[in-house]
Amino acid sequence: MELSKIVIGGMRFADREVAVATIRAAIDAGFNYLDTSPCYCRESEEENSESWVGTAVNHPDYRDRVIISTKCAPGDGGFGLGEFKPEGGFGVRSSQQLKQVFNQSLSRLNMDRVDFYHLWTTHTLEQLEEAMKPGGWYEGVMEMSDKWDHLGVTTHGNPDTITAFLETGKFETVTIPLNIINRTRESILKYCLKKGIKVIAMNPFSGGFLAQIPELKELALRYLMSFENVYPLIGFSNVEEVEYAKWIQDTMKDWTMSFDEMIKRSKELLKTDDNTCTSCGYCQPCPNDINVGASLSYYNIYKYMHQESAKAAFKEKQWEDGLRLDKCTYCGLCASRCPNHLPLMDIIKEANEILYK
Ligand code: SF4
Ligand code: SF4
Repeated sequence: MELSKIVIGGMRFADREVAVATIRAAIDAGFNYLDTSPCYCRESEEENSESWVGTAVNHPDYRDRVIISTKCAPGDGGFGLGEFKPEGGFGVRSSQQLKQVFNQSLSRLNMDRVDFYHLWTTHTLEQLEEAMKPGGWYEGVMEMSDKWDHLGVTTHGNPDTITAFLETGKFETVTIPLNIINRTRESILKYCLKKGIKVIAMNPFSGGFLAQIPELKELALRYLMSFENVYPLIGFSNVEEVEYAKWIQDTMKDWTMSFDEMIKRSKELLKTDDNTCTSCGYCQPCPNDINVGASLSYYNIYKYMHQESAKAAFKEKQWEDGLRLDKCTYCGLCASRCPNHLPLMDIIKEANEILYK
C-alpha cells in the first residue's frame, strides 16, 4: 500500500472513545499510515495509544486500509542511553528486551504483526551504535522479522547524523521534526528523494504554536505538502482536525503560492521585519551540540508571536533537539556560517536571557 500524503499521529487522543472516532475518521478521509508508540497517551496497561489504535482498526472495515507503525528506543528519549523501561519502550538495549517490548506492543494492539517498526528517538551516532551492536536492538528486530514488513528510524538528530543513519541502508522511512519555522533538516530532503526514502514530518505546527493563527496554520501544512517526498504527520486529537487536513489535501491542486512566498508570508504573519532565523540548519554543527535553529524557533515564537508559553515549552524540552542554548560559549562558529548573516551572538545572548528567565 502506498503511503497517503498526510499520515496519522497517535499521540494526542484524550481517551479511547475520541481515539476510535478520530482514527476511523482519518482512515475514512484517506489517511492510511498510523504512527503509535508504547508511551503515547499511556494511562495504564489497558488504556494507551496502542490499545486504542487496536480497538479502532481491528475491524473488517478498517484494518486493510491502514498501515500500522509502532516503535521502541535504545535511548532514554533524549540523547542518553537510559535504563530499560519496557512500559514506555525506552532503554531497549538487548535483543531480548526488544522482543519483550515488541510483543508488548503486539499484545496491546491485539495484532499478530505490524507493517512498520521504528528505531525510535535515536538522535546520536552513539545511540545508533548501541542499537546496532551484536545482541542489541537491531539483532532483536531481525529475529522478529516475521512480525513486520518495513523498518524506519525516528530522530531529532542533525542532518549529518540523519544521513549517517540512512547510509546504513536499513531504513525505508525517516521521521524528523520539520515545519515552516524549524527548517533545520530541510537539507536532507534531496538526499532522501534520491535514495527513495520517505520523510515523515513530525511537529508540523511546532507544538501547536502555528495553529494559533489560522493563516499560519494553513501555510504550515501547505509548506510540508509542497515537498515531493514529505509526509506530514498530524497528531489529530479530534474529527474536526481530520476534516481540516482533508480540506488542505483536497485543495492543494489549486494552491499557487510558491515555496519562497509561503516562507515570506509566514514571516509577515510573525509580525517582524527583522531578519530572523529560518531554522535552515546551515550553521550546524556546533561544538557544544546546540541546534541553533531549533532553539531560536522558540525564541521567535516568544518574541514575534508573543506566546508566553514558548518559554515553558522550551524549558520542558531541554533534552531534545540540542536546545541547551545555555551551553553556548559564544565561539562565533554558527554566526560565520549563517547565510542570513544574522547577528547571532546578540540574538543568542538575548534568547538565553529571555528563554531561561
Ligand atoms: S556560538 Fe554558541 S551556538 Fe554558535 S557554534 Fe559557538 S557554541 Fe555553538
Ligand atoms: S542561525 Fe542562520 S544558519 Fe542557523 S538556522 Fe538560523 S538562519 Fe539558519
